[in-house]
Amino acid sequence: MVKYWISEIFTSIQGEGEVIGTPSNFIRLAGCHLRCIWCDTKYAWHKYDGEEMSIEQILDKIDKRIKFTTITGGEPLLQDILPLVEALKSLNHKVLVETSGTIKPSKKLRELVDIFSVSPKLSNSGYKFKYNFKDDNWVTYFKFVIVNPLEDIQEIIRFIRENNIEPSKVILQPDGRKENYTEGLRELIDIILKLGIPFRVLPQFHR
Ligand code: SF4
Repeated sequence: MVKYWISEIFTSIQGEGEVIGTPSNFIRLAGCHLRCIWCDTKYAWHKYDGEEMSIEQILDKIDKRIKFTTITGGEPLLQDILPLVEALKSLNHKVLVETSGTIKPSKKLRELVDIFSVSPKLSNSGYKFKYNFKDDNWVTYFKFVIVNPLEDIQEIIRFIRENNIEPSKVILQPDGRKENYTEGLRELIDIILKLGIPFRVLPQFHR
């Protein structure tokens, strides 16, 4: 029987990205191979801090009236989420997967998942990755956490050039640790308007 390491399951509204505000079930898988400086889900880093659950146990805990489910982490693609996604699709759920983009999903998973929200890590996370998304069309949108606006935006511009990504697929989100979040948001909007790049700027709700 397939089992997953689960950090938590809850219902709320989507707090970020293109579907912000949408009521969603959240299935947070435990375990992550990264350690981003600004990570706000450190409690989901270790797989054994989670609870081992079968698909039936997971489905028992979600709100079936809400036909939208977000699979997040941790890094959800460290576990084989295909059977879980298949089970959710058989219940007619729209499925969103949030991933760091460091693990490529299988062809079958790409076909089944409705939305892939990919958050490539910039240097502000403590990593220097060389991503290759050149021939990938499975990503619905790229979401970046912005800590140092000018430097980070330059890094994103290099990233989209190297990977042939449409700027309209990019969403910027200020670092949630900032004391004055609204000011950070305003600063980011001003920079984007000044540079004339069609990146989208969105806030993050705590869900
Ligand atoms: Fe945290 Fe996500 Fe970074 Fe993992 S990839 S450390 S869960 S922010």
